[in-house]
Amino acid sequence: MANETSRFQSIISHCKEYGFIFPSSEIYDGLSAVYDYGQWGSELKKNIKDYWWKSMTQMHENIVGIDAAIFMHPTTWKASGHVDNFSDPMIDNKDSKKRYRVDHLIEKHADELTETGRRDEAKSLLDGMDALLAKDDFTGLKRLIEENKIICEISGTSNWTDVRQFNLMFSTQLGSVSEEANEIYLRPETAQGIFVNFLNVQKTGRMKIPFGIAQIGKAFRNEIVARQFIFRMREFEQMEMQFFIRPGTQKEWYEFWKEERMRWHLSLGIPKERYRFHDHVKLAHYADAACDIEYEFPIGFKEVEGIHSRTDFDLRNHQEYSKKKMQYFDNELDAGGKPYGNYIPYVIETSIGLDRTILMVLSEAYTEEDLSTTEKKDDRVVLKLPPKLAPVKLAILPLVKRDGLPEIARQIMEENKNAFRSFYEEKDTIGKRYRRMDAIGTPFCVTVDHQTKEDSTVTIRHRDSMQQERVHIHSIKSIVEKLLS
Ligand code: ATP
Repeated sequence: MANETSRFQSIISHCKEYGFIFPSSEIYDGLSAVYDYGQWGSELKKNIKDYWWKSMTQMHENIVGIDAAIFMHPTTWKASGHVDNFSDPMIDNKDSKKRYRVDHLIEKHADELTETGRRDEAKSLLDGMDALLAKDDFTGLKRLIEENKIICEISGTSNWTDVRQFNLMFSTQLGSVSEEANEIYLRPETAQGIFVNFLNVQKTGRMKIPFGIAQIGKAFRNEIVARQFIFRMREFEQMEMQFFIRPGTQKEWYEFWKEERMRWHLSLGIPKERYRFHDHVKLAHYADAACDIEYEFPIGFKEVEGIHSRTDFDLRNHQEYSKKKMQYFDNELDAGGKPYGNYIPYVIETSIGLDRTILMVLSEAYTEEDLSTTEKKDDRVVLKLPPKLAPVKLAILPLVKRDGLPEIARQIMEENKNAFRSFYEEKDTIGKRYRRMDAIGTPFCVTVDHQTKEDSTVTIRHRDSMQQERVHIHSIKSIVEKLLS
C-alpha cells in the first residue's frame, strides 16, 4: 500500500510537471478539491469525452445527446429529492475540528484491519456499517465508531460529535436585487437536465421507447472530504445517459447496460482484472437496483461509474411538481394484442465521472521503466495511453536544427496536422525529445535525418516498444491513422 500511495503521488506530480492538471488558482495557493486542466490534460479530457459521446450517440441509433444549462429551476431539486436527501452522514472530531464522512472513516479503519490480517473483523465492521446506513441509524453509527475505537488521524483521539447529515449542494442567488433574488443550486448531477427535457426530446425527435438521452457537463458537490486529487472534486464533469424503457423491462435493460458499459471500459485496453462490479446494499432514494463499476486505482478499488435502475421516480416527481404530464404513448401491442398505452417510462441510468475516468486512464498508463544496460544507467517515465486518447498523436522531430532538416520536418507537420494532433519540436537532443514525448504519451515520433534528404524516408518510433522503422514521408499519415483506428 505504501508503494501504491507513492505511485499515486508520482502520478499527481507527473500531471503537474507535464501540463496535464494544475491546482486551481495556484498562485493564490489553490482552492481545495478544484483543479484546472493544462495543455495536455485538456486534450486528453476532450478525447475521452469524444470517445464516450461517439460510443453512446453515434454507435446507438436510439440515443441522442443534449446540452442543458447548469442553472435549473429550484423546484427541480425539490422534485428530484436532492433538497431533502442529497446528504452524507458526517462526524467531527472535537479536538482537531476535522470533519469526516462516516462511511469513509469506518472504511479506512476496515482497510487497516485487513492490512494487519484481521479480515473477519473488517468484514463484520463493514457489514455492520451497511446495515446502519441502510436504516439511517446515526446513533448506531456513532456507537460503532466508538466501540471500534476509531480515532481521528490528526488528534489521535476518539472525542467525536454526534453523526449529522450534510447537504452537498452549492447554492447561489439568481437575480440582481437581493430582495428579489431566488436561491438556486449549482446542479449536483447532470441527469435532471435530461429528465426535464424528456418530453422536448421525445416529441421533437419522435423518439420511440426504448431510447436514451446522453449528456456531458459540469456538476458541483460540496464534498465533505475531498483530498484525493481529481478522484473527488467539488467541481467535476459527468457523462450521463438516461435510457427510457417500458415499466417491467428494467431488469433486462439494467443487465444490458451493465454489460455494455463494461465493454466500453475494456475497449480502453484496461485489463479485466482491474475492474469489478459492486452491488449496492443501501439504495439511493430513487433506485430499485444499482451497482458501481470499480477500477483498481493506486488507492484501491473505487467507483468510477454508477449504473442505476431509477424506476419512474424522477419523471413521476417532475410530473407531480410541474403539473405537466411526463407520459409516453406506446402503441405497440402487448401479449394480449392491446396497445401498451400511456405510461411514465422507467429509466436505467449510466453515470460516469469524466475526471475519474481521466484518473483511471492515467493510473493505468503511468509506467516507470528501468532501461539500464551494463554500460549505463537509464530510465524513463512513459504514459502508455491508448493512442486514440493520447493528447498528441505524432511528434515530428528534425535530428538537428540545420542542413535543411527543420524545413522538411515543417513540411511533414503541414501534411499531417489536419488529420490528427501533431507536434513539432527541434529543441534539445533527440533522446530528450523522445523522453518528453513518452512522458505525455505520444504514441509515434518521426525523426527527419540526413538520409531523409536523399531518399525521403524518416524513422518512425513506437512509444511502447521504442522500436524504430524507416518509412517513406508520404506513408506517415496512413501508418498513423491505421494504428489509431
Ligand atoms: P461517491 O460514492 O464516490 O461519492 P457517488 O455514488 O455519489 O460517488 P454518483 O452520484 O453515482 O456518485 O455519480 C456518478 C459518477 O460521478 C461517479 O461514479 C463518479 O465517477 C463521479 N463523481 C461523483 N462525485 C464526484 C466527485 N466529487 N468528484 C469527481 N467525480 C465524481
